[in-house]
Amino acid sequence: MKSVCVFTGSNRGNRPGFAAIAAALGSEIAARGLELVYGGSRVGLMGVVADAALAAGGEVTGVLPQALVRKELVHPEITRTHIVESMHERKAMFSDLSDGFVALPGGLGTLEELFEVLTWAQLGFHSKPVGLLNTDRYYDDLLTFLGKAVDEGFVREAHRGLLLSHSAPVALLDAMAGFEPVVVSKWIDKADEL
Ligand code: AMP
Repeated sequence: MKSVCVFTGSNRGNRPGFAAIAAALGSEIAARGLELVYGGSRVGLMGVVADAALAAGGEVTGVLPQALVRKELVHPEITRTHIVESMHERKAMFSDLSDGFVALPGGLGTLEELFEVLTWAQLGFHSKPVGLLNTDRYYDDLLTFLGKAVDEGFVREAHRGLLLSHSAPVALLDAMAGFEPVVVSKWIDKADEL
């Protein structure tokens, strides 16, 4: 991997541990010589991860749709900022610029971004690693739900396994570096595979 895209909250969340882990991830990305790609804002955990990567001497690329460009929210110090026309263009650019994806704690935007890259991986549209930084057990319920989706026959075990989950940045980035893509049909019932 040469670059990692981070999805995370535009809020900081209620626990100080969230900002601490976002900072640790930003520093670790930079320490490994990886470029950070993210939403380009200076607010919330997004700003924390970018600040930490910059402080550790890393390169940081922001990608923002025109509609989200509010001067006070755009991070003023990142290495480069791409302003694009739409959210769709933005996500395509996140994908083009990044060799892997990490979700830190976040809200609806973070979940939507995470599940889109997981869906694309499941369909074989990319074979890049997708990681979940499950700090303070924030994502435990989500992981339990994914287990339910497997048990109920909607998700293959191999596809659930596409989401690499760890509670610490070093372990997560190591797992992502060693990731072997899985090639399994999305359909569980062979009769549906046309
Ligand atoms: P949320 O988890 O709902 O706070 O949304 C965070 C995710 O959505 C980030 O990974 C960003 O890509 C995007 N996002 C949300 N708000 C902003 C913002 N003000 N500026 C840039 N990106 C944002």
